Amino acid sequence: MNVTSKIELNEDGFGTFNPEVIAMLLNSIRDFFASVGVESMKPIVIVHDPTGPECCAIPNEEKHLIKLSTGGDFWCQWVYQFAHEYCHHLIDGGLVRQTAGLRWLEESICHVASYVCLDNFARICAQRVDLCGNVKQIVDYLEGMMCESGKILYEPYIHNIQKLNPIVPIPNECYISLHTYIQEKRNKLESEYFVCGYIYISRALFPHFYNNKNLWKILPELKDTRQWGSVEELYEHLEHHVKDDYRQSLNDMIGCLI
Ligand SMILES: [Zn+2]
Repeated sequence: MNVTSKIELNEDGFGTFNPEVIAMLLNSIRDFFASVGVESMKPIVIVHDPTGPECCAIPNEEKHLIKLSTGGDFWCQWVYQFAHEYCHHLIDGGLVRQTAGLRWLEESICHVASYVCLDNFARICAQRVDLCGNVKQIVDYLEGMMCESGKILYEPYIHNIQKLNPIVPIPNECYISLHTYIQEKRNKLESEYFVCGYIYISRALFPHFYNNKNLWKILPELKDTRQWGSVEELYEHLEHHVKDDYRQSLNDMIGCLI
């Protein structure tokens, strides 16, 4: 199935699904990033792989392969997995599962992409008569992702479509200890695939990307995140390319990391 001229879905293994909704959902993720000018020239082929989601380069071709383990009409899972891998595709650094340097930051940012794209998908569904009945389920799913020790970090004024705007992301104060957390877990973050760490950090990064979508413009500048020895080193690089429409958000985000 051709989703767009650059996104092709190989339907084998994905089971029975509503092709119109799945195409819309995949497209909504592409459109979200394209709306701030973050796009890739490389086409994507999406295939089913039960071993788990991954984005990898196709040897000798200027294409990326995105593997997803979801299927059927589990729309939230489609969004969650595809947004994460699409974010890796846009960064287009070393598309290998090797934890070194600031790879942990890339993984955390890709988790944020999932949250933000789920929120975006809920908003799209809310505007469609045939899909608005699914909004509560999407918001519940997202809340599950954003929930920590019973404290809901994402407050979209649930269950009321009329009130989907505005969502109130949590203030940074919840994450005063983020810097300490990163210091404490640094060895683990730099040496192993540490999903719990990525999730913790992504929740703290969420408000920065959520409040200013222009911050997503840093994606292509992250390059191969394994090359950065520290957040300070990356920041020095990003500062050379930063635009006014996200300068403050970048400073705020970096400020909570270092
Ligand atoms: Zn990842």
